[in-house]
Amino acid sequence: MGARTGPAAAAAGGDGDGRPGRRALLVGAAAAAVGTAVLAREELSRLWWRLPGVDKPRVAGAVDFRGARWVAASAANYRRADRPADYRVDRVVVHVTQGGYASAVKVFQDPAHGAAAHYIVRADGRVTQLIRELDVAFHAGNREYNERSVGIEHEGFVDDASSFTDALYAASARLTATVCGRYGIPVDREHIIGHAEVPGTDHTDPGRFWDWDRYLGLVRAERARRAPNERS
Ligand SMILES: [Zn+2]
Repeated sequence: MGARTGPAAAAAGGDGDGRPGRRALLVGAAAAAVGTAVLAREELSRLWWRLPGVDKPRVAGAVDFRGARWVAASAANYRRADRPADYRVDRVVVHVTQGGYASAVKVFQDPAHGAAAHYIVRADGRVTQLIRELDVAFHAGNREYNERSVGIEHEGFVDDASSFTDALYAASARLTATVCGRYGIPVDREHIIGHAEVPGTDHTDPGRFWDWDRYLGLVRAERARRAPNERS
């Protein structure tokens, strides 16, 4: 895995201005370990999930999904980790907030809440990331599933079909497609599951109005549309 060099890595010749970037200096050892002489800043941010067993680069405010807005969850609501080096990521867990976007963000910032997801998708399609995918978010109510999954909240209510807007489905499908691409997760109902399907949970989200056929169709279309090397 470490020796892989795709077209993207091969194209990375430097930072473009002749000087090594700050990030390149920080991860010089990691870059050498993967057998690539120099990784440009941008390339590195796209390839971090391929770096095994190292402390992956973390930059304040960085997101894993391009275009996501960053709002940090309380550190009490997740556990710092080094995924996928320490835990294999092979599930996406779909949640529904049972409330508005703002109140969901607020409770995820509350250390007393004890839970938070990696992402929230707003009804208008805006994506907010609260926890890095490197880390284990407390969202599934099951330790093993927390460790192996990325959790995505959706603004809305399980009993209100109108919660699930076209914009929400489309944005979430784009997000899930990139997560599946990053970790090689198959796009099927075994690997993309609802919170209600997590063993031991008493939660019912996303509920009967969540259109799984439509959602998986959108995720598959998004995966097909993307270039094989594009993972973010
Ligand atoms: Zn849930």
